[in-house]
Amino acid sequence: MNHDSSRELYDRALSSIPGGVNSSVRAIRPYPFFIERGDGGHVIDADGNRYLDFVNGYGPLLYGHDLPQPVQSAVQSTVSEGPMYGAPTEIEVDLAEFVSRHVPSVEMIRFVNSGTEATVSAIRLARGYTGRDKIVVMQGGYHGAQESTLVEGEDGHVHPSSPGIPEEFAQHTIPVPFNDVDAVQDVFAAHGDEIAAVLTEPILGNTGIVHPVEGYHETLRDLTEDHDALLIFDEVITGFRVGGLQCAQGKFGVTPDVTTFGKIVGGGFPVGAIGGKAEIIEQFTPAGEVFQSGTFSGHPVTMAAGYESLKYAAENDVYEHVNALGEQLREGLTEIVADRAPSYTVAGTDSMFKVLFTREGPDSTEGQCEAGCRQRPDCPRYDHCPKNGADVADCEDERWERLFWPAMKEQGIFLTVNQYESQFVSYAHTEEDVETLLSAYEEAL
Ligand SMILES: *Cc1c(COP(=O)(O)O)cnc(C)c1O
Repeated sequence: MNHDSSRELYDRALSSIPGGVNSSVRAIRPYPFFIERGDGGHVIDADGNRYLDFVNGYGPLLYGHDLPQPVQSAVQSTVSEGPMYGAPTEIEVDLAEFVSRHVPSVEMIRFVNSGTEATVSAIRLARGYTGRDKIVVMQGGYHGAQESTLVEGEDGHVHPSSPGIPEEFAQHTIPVPFNDVDAVQDVFAAHGDEIAAVLTEPILGNTGIVHPVEGYHETLRDLTEDHDALLIFDEVITGFRVGGLQCAQGKFGVTPDVTTFGKIVGGGFPVGAIGGKAEIIEQFTPAGEVFQSGTFSGHPVTMAAGYESLKYAAENDVYEHVNALGEQLREGLTEIVADRAPSYTVAGTDSMFKVLFTREGPDSTEGQCEAGCRQRPDCPRYDHCPKNGADVADCEDERWERLFWPAMKEQGIFLTVNQYESQFVSYAHTEEDVETLLSAYEEAL
């Protein structure tokens, strides 16, 4: 593969953009390929190389790179009428009504411009609503580039995980290991009446894809209710992907008080949203006192793309298609891994997938989860499959990033660039694409 144009572009970018990229995860070594355009389930780079794309923008692209015709028309006609107004438009109401109709926890919703902005606002809302400061988060969970959740450590020893964040901010955040019932019970026993909210992804979607163990979300729901704290599900990555239009909360049957959205709900354009019980969401200004505002919030192009994308999914076989491909893919990966690298763990659900380079596996794979780890206690892998962020961090991420990823790229497969980020099947992918991907894994593992 020739990468001369990408190398030249990266050389230019390094002089004008820090690290040459506008989001740190994109800084593939030694240099990223620059995308020229998308084409269905593929992307084409600046040197004309074509890749089967399972990154899908890190999550927003349910349809891959060809938007369904109604989405495309809506986007184009909206743009042709002028980009935005700073005054309300009908399409915002359409999308708000649609989300409220389909997602169990949502009675009202406020749209913003990124997942980060959504989680920032949700935390402010939870603190404003409860009059408490402490937030419980999961180690290895991701909620965007924001002060309250960029922390590391554990209760009593929490520090910011980035320079530029005052130590005092981290003192209000308590990280616990995902899936550890005792840890979160201890935290509530010690600080129950100071905790504003537990903030968690329903599935760790930015750290290897980790499923909840049975009863974990129910425990969070009970603890928060018993202590008058809020349960916030960050569904920025799982929203409108896992569980279809009802999102992961519908699939798991656990209803949070507040839900944050992003990614798919904007149909490929910048978006975030905070939804939940009307009584809570109405605390946002101007209905309530918790300040929330944004020049671009509810942007007409985003709202049109989001609404038409979700409507299309409601009226067509979109989730059936992507979920069936995901199942086919994870089943195929499970067989390949059993043969080539039996200690590795296949993870994912619906249209999400990842092979985790776990270091130890079971002696026999008889009766294991067949299409992605479900944290089934009677699965022979149960003692080895990652249950939290630390377990994923223990995987062979150097091997993943330096040997496996480049070997896949050389075969024309674009995967997320490290062991942590999820990968996605899109509506543009076919069974043949999945077979191509499986052959590439077989070659590279
Ligand atoms: C992507 C993501 C975010 C951050 O969203 P941005 O739009 O990148 O700011 C927050 N939470 C989760 C769970 C995410 O996957």
